[in-house]
Amino acid sequence: MRWQGGRESENVEDRRGGGGFSMGGPLGGRGIPIGRGGLGIGGLAVVVVVSLLLGINPMDLLNGTVPVEQSRYEQSQAPRSNADDELGRFVSVVLADTEDTWNALFQQAGRNYQEPTLVLFSGAVDSGCGFAQAAMGPFYCPLDQKLYIDLSFYRDLRDRFRAPGDFAQAYVIAHEVGHHVQNLLGISDRVQQAQQRAGNRAEANALSVRLELQADCLAGLWANHANRERQIIEPGDVEEALTAASAIGDDRLQKQSRGTVAPDSFTHGSSAQRVRWFRTGLESGQMQACDTFSADRL
Ligand SMILES: [Zn+2]
Repeated sequence: MRWQGGRESENVEDRRGGGGFSMGGPLGGRGIPIGRGGLGIGGLAVVVVVSLLLGINPMDLLNGTVPVEQSRYEQSQAPRSNADDELGRFVSVVLADTEDTWNALFQQAGRNYQEPTLVLFSGAVDSGCGFAQAAMGPFYCPLDQKLYIDLSFYRDLRDRFRAPGDFAQAYVIAHEVGHHVQNLLGISDRVQQAQQRAGNRAEANALSVRLELQADCLAGLWANHANRERQIIEPGDVEEALTAASAIGDDRLQKQSRGTVAPDSFTHGSSAQRVRWFRTGLESGQMQACDTFSADRL
């Protein structure tokens, strides 16, 4: 991906190594809400998998109504390496690029794009949606309109999910920005209301899948526009993003965690679905093409 020398966003909040938290003592018994209302890229799936293993309703976990066992978080005080700072600059340039794209697209539709803030953290973070740990993966919190990412997720992406490359990393940010766009357009709210009316968990999960696949499509839409305006895509980049999209599909994550796949509990869509919707956004460049909610086939 061609990003060096690109504009850096002013909406990055760097909370890496900023003193950190110590989550209570051994006697602390307060439940910690995690990721309330937050929409992660793979983290949500991890929560689902973990809670299935523990026999807890994941919706309760995500709504923060289940007390999570308290853990002590040790902040690493290691100095930041140059590689990290280069990564920090990189995400800032990608965020700026999404701002340029979405400002233009909203303007075309006669609307005003409110730019989100990207929070970089290490280990754990106190978000507007509750306390979150890096293990949850990157997520978007609609309540404070901020994207949260621990850059160590990129190491996981490369090593654990075998999806290396800077464009794969950019896709992750573009997906979370996609959730912000859904929030601004009122889509997330409508989905949440429909989920509350849903008769069962499978139905609620099916709506989550459509929301997630739409965020993938919006990430593809960003790639289309950014490339048309600023020629950022280099050979191999699209394959990188598709590898990432496929590596963090729920079926793949579930297989890694428990060896089998149970479609009812999917909340992000299968690997093939994620690839298809990212590609739909990328190839069409049209917002209308990203209507996952009325699509017959995902
Ligand atoms: Zn997501």
